[in-house]
Amino acid sequence: MLRLWHKIRRTGRVAEPAPARPAPHERAFPGSVQVRHVDAGSCNGCEVEIASAFGPVHDAERYGARLVASPRHADVLLVTGPVTRNMAEPLRRTYDAVPGPKAVVAVGDCARDCGVFAGAYGVAGAVHDVIPVDVEIAGCPPRPEAITEALRKLTGR
Ligand code: SF4
Repeated sequence: MLRLWHKIRRTGRVAEPAPARPAPHERAFPGSVQVRHVDAGSCNGCEVEIASAFGPVHDAERYGARLVASPRHADVLLVTGPVTRNMAEPLRRTYDAVPGPKAVVAVGDCARDCGVFAGAYGVAGAVHDVIPVDVEIAGCPPRPEAITEALRKLTGR
């Protein structure tokens, strides 16, 4: 037990050091944002990176970004994947359920322009074809650092 305690003490903090504060986005929510994630048709790769952005290493919550369970509690929608035909209407309804002011972050190449799924029979379009998008994060999947940085632009922290 004592050895474990010494090991914990030696290890210290494992979270990445905070990079410099990015310039705030024009639609910033100073201090904190409540974030609702919507998978509109993702392969799940982007979800793994979002989980990492909110995990103990990158810890997006320390910059004021918090995941919530309902769009009615959210300021921001974090949308992944190309929008499939089955998800177009639920995504529209989810957007309408978020109280204003609100912002939409399109996470990953699929959300930006359908990525590798462009032209597929089940795809209705990119996120901006269904709801207005304020911030786009490139990558397939985007790195957790890029997701954290985009959220920091929204919180201004
Ligand atoms: S951008 Fe890449 S990782 Fe994200 S949903 Fe599309 S294919 Fe998957």
